[in-house]
Amino acid sequence: MKLQEPLLLRQHAYINGQWCAADGADTFAVHDPATDQLIAHLPLMGEAEAMRAIQAADAALPAWRDLTAKERARLLRRWFFLLEQHEEDLARLMTWEQGKPLAEARGEIRYAASFVEWFAEEAKRLYGDVIPAPRQDQTLLVMREPIGVCAAITPWNFPAAMITRKAAPALAAGCTIVIKPANETPLSALALAELAHRAGIPPGVFNIVTGDAQAIGQQFSTHPLVRKLSFTGSTPIGRLLMAQCAGTIKKVSLELGGNAPFIVFDDADLDAAVEGAIQAKFRNAGQTCVCVNRFYVHQSVYTGFLERFCARVAELRVGNGFAEASEIGPLISARAVSKVQSLLDDAVQQGARLLTGGQSLAAGPQYFAPTVIADVKPGMRLLDEEIFGPLAPVMPFASDQEVVMLANATIYGLAAYFYSRDISRVWRVARQLEYGIVGINTGMVSNEVAPFGGIKQSGLGREGSRYGIDDYLESKYLCMAC
Ligand code: ADP
Repeated sequence: MKLQEPLLLRQHAYINGQWCAADGADTFAVHDPATDQLIAHLPLMGEAEAMRAIQAADAALPAWRDLTAKERARLLRRWFFLLEQHEEDLARLMTWEQGKPLAEARGEIRYAASFVEWFAEEAKRLYGDVIPAPRQDQTLLVMREPIGVCAAITPWNFPAAMITRKAAPALAAGCTIVIKPANETPLSALALAELAHRAGIPPGVFNIVTGDAQAIGQQFSTHPLVRKLSFTGSTPIGRLLMAQCAGTIKKVSLELGGNAPFIVFDDADLDAAVEGAIQAKFRNAGQTCVCVNRFYVHQSVYTGFLERFCARVAELRVGNGFAEASEIGPLISARAVSKVQSLLDDAVQQGARLLTGGQSLAAGPQYFAPTVIADVKPGMRLLDEEIFGPLAPVMPFASDQEVVMLANATIYGLAAYFYSRDISRVWRVARQLEYGIVGINTGMVSNEVAPFGGIKQSGLGREGSRYGIDDYLESKYLCMAC
């Protein structure tokens, strides 16, 4: 794989502005999920190196915090311009290690860069408050201050954007950060570090530690110098990290699993609903936490929707992400393929109808055919478990009340989608859905200007938007007698 700028392929961790190996020189391998070929060896770091990164972030904190907001914004803007300038190389690295089609990888780099641009702007607007005092001889003020050293643990499905969505608000607020990227996709993270370095972000402000997730996670969530942990990943690991953070009362942000419903009402524009369904289900081969897990279609349009949906799904082109025609790449691992297969088998054994897909593909064993199953019923595992693959379960419903109840009957509350043209139904259902994000007549909801995050066991806090920086700030109240 050729890059225009070969130095973006880094095979060392980035701590205190230096490229470093693990103390014991141990490494782990990164593979191309499309071919299973070896791409690189990365440092297998653990507690000692994580601790050093935390200490470097702590040492860098005072000077970074004391820069003016305008100076921090300028450095973030330089980072943003470099991300834009190297979009093609960053996208190619991502397709190589993650598998997503190149067009999607380019889109993710633009999305990742947009957080850096947005929070460079927000850095300058961290206003405080003056509060009318209850006594004449007092002046009350609220100042917003950076929380301190932050730690982040990120997943493989968005190897660049999940990092910038955390690091950009942290740096804008005046915090420093240590990051552990997913072991499947560390190269994108290290390329971001290379560009942060070139932008002039000072040593220790932005650090990437690669290696043993459990050992590094342990340090990140228990070290007293870390004031905040931000995690994107599975709900079980989120629970574990939150419990570990309790010992030192860290502020915690969590972006965890989802179980997104997609509801098609009888008055929906069916063609638009099909297009929205394709986007919301099959992006990143179904491997996003806002991907649809369950389709509910009103019984009067059930057959019509299924016909059109299956026809579109059958057209999706599956193949290596580097082939420009590919719309669906490989899944991240053989384990991911077998999990989706077992959810499909369970549903079919319990009476779901396989309408399209389901078969193995010439492209290889890492790929899963885009699949639609109908007549899905309660009790099938895929209604409660996150599918994280290109498998769409569809079922009919009879009334608004019933479908809202079914949509809300989950421990998760990240994203929900529905299609309707009845304005009063739109407002009513939007209010009734217990989700942090609701897509109405659209299957695409993510951007840097809106708050992304879930309720219930899908997480804590919001990322992106003007709210996204709040998680990296503390309010300091000044009570002045005068
Ligand atoms: P997935 O199953 O999609 O990989 P995970 O929640 O396991 O989701 O992974 C998300 C991130 O959490 C990755 O960076 C992974 O390395 C990390 N991780 C996994 N296990 C732990 C752990 N015990 N402590 C800290 N981080 C972990």
